[in-house]
Amino acid sequence: MAEYKGVMVYSEVADDKLAAITTELLGCGRKLADDLGQELSAVLVGSGVSGLAQEVIAFGADKVYVIDDPLLKDYQTDSYVAVMEKVVKQAMPQILILGQTSIGRDLAPRLAFRLETAVSLDCLELAIDPDSKLLLQTKPVYGGNALATFTFESYPQIVTVRPKAMSPLERDASRKGEVVTIEAGLDPSAIRTKVLETVIEEVEGIKLEDAEVIVSGGRGIGGAEGFEQLGELAKTLKGAVGATRPPCDNGWIPEGLQIGLTGKIVAPTLYIAVALSGSSQHMSGCSGSKNIIAINKDPEANIFKVAHFGVVGDWKKVIPAFASKVKELMIG
Ligand SMILES: Cc1cc2nc3c(=O)[nH]c(=O)nc-3n(C[C@H](O)[C@H](O)[C@H](O)COP(=O)(O)OP(=O)(O)OC[C@H]3O[C@@H](n4cnc5c(N)ncnc54)[C@H](O)[C@@H]3O)c2cc1C
Repeated sequence: MAEYKGVMVYSEVADDKLAAITTELLGCGRKLADDLGQELSAVLVGSGVSGLAQEVIAFGADKVYVIDDPLLKDYQTDSYVAVMEKVVKQAMPQILILGQTSIGRDLAPRLAFRLETAVSLDCLELAIDPDSKLLLQTKPVYGGNALATFTFESYPQIVTVRPKAMSPLERDASRKGEVVTIEAGLDPSAIRTKVLETVIEEVEGIKLEDAEVIVSGGRGIGGAEGFEQLGELAKTLKGAVGATRPPCDNGWIPEGLQIGLTGKIVAPTLYIAVALSGSSQHMSGCSGSKNIIAINKDPEANIFKVAHFGVVGDWKKVIPAFASKVKELMIG
């Protein structure tokens, strides 16, 4: 497999800027490329994205492949898989890293199938095995209750990485790199779907995925009023409110705030889990949190097995006391 060489990062763009996940992946890709003594390349796909190539270099890439075409304005499976297959076949990277985002989750497995290789989704750590030089991929298993390290021998080794799991490098505008333009060469009739409308989710305050502090409530909160109290606490902590599935299903809180397997994936510095049991489906969306505080009246609740700090008690008593202490400390 000597023809495969180097590390490649798929660069996502959001609001005409590099998405945060892209800078994180470039930070991690740089380290892997240095450990292999090889090049770090990046791929920029979209319409009007060429201007961002230098920014990708400033965050660590040695080379940027740019595929800029009006047909690539919106992410669309057929077109993006086709151009990524083309780039990977031309560049032949040993490792391809994408974000564990809605785009990465869609693109990575399809690309792996087309390229007849394997893929590991939702990795939290990546490293190079010093002996085999293969990529070691550490990811949560059993709904986030354990971590397992995998590797595979087919190339390219494709992985997705969870947002916030890696740190970006300091931006260095003086870094130099090469920009390679590739023609998309798309046949419009081969693109079977098109985006008719984009609806921007309205968010009051901080977006759940960007919040450093999340106050998350479960079924035990009992209703929409309880979530207002959690919202107050989140506001004091300059954070956001999240939830397990039952409060969303019951309409106590918008469904866009559901965290878990079928909801959002978050990795804040502080996750306050209130009146939720800690089901594996919920934990798979928040087990990357740096600190978890659990408040639950059941001392046997599963959440206490994963929490770093815990309070056994009724949230209706604990949260007001906690919130007033937080306010006192924040003002003090
Ligand atoms: C395919 C599939 C996908 C799923 N996806 C998701 C997902 O993305 N996200 C998700 O969250 N779930 C998901 N679920 C549902 C999941 O299995 C659980 O049912 C759900 O997470 C449980 O939510 P909960 O912890 O709020 O409720 P429960 O498990 O009912 O826990 C409520 C907790 O509140 C505590 N409590 C009650 N009253 C109080 C009080 N006054 N003070 C303190 N504590 C109190 C109880 O002790 C209990 O531990 C999914 C399920 C399936 C099958």
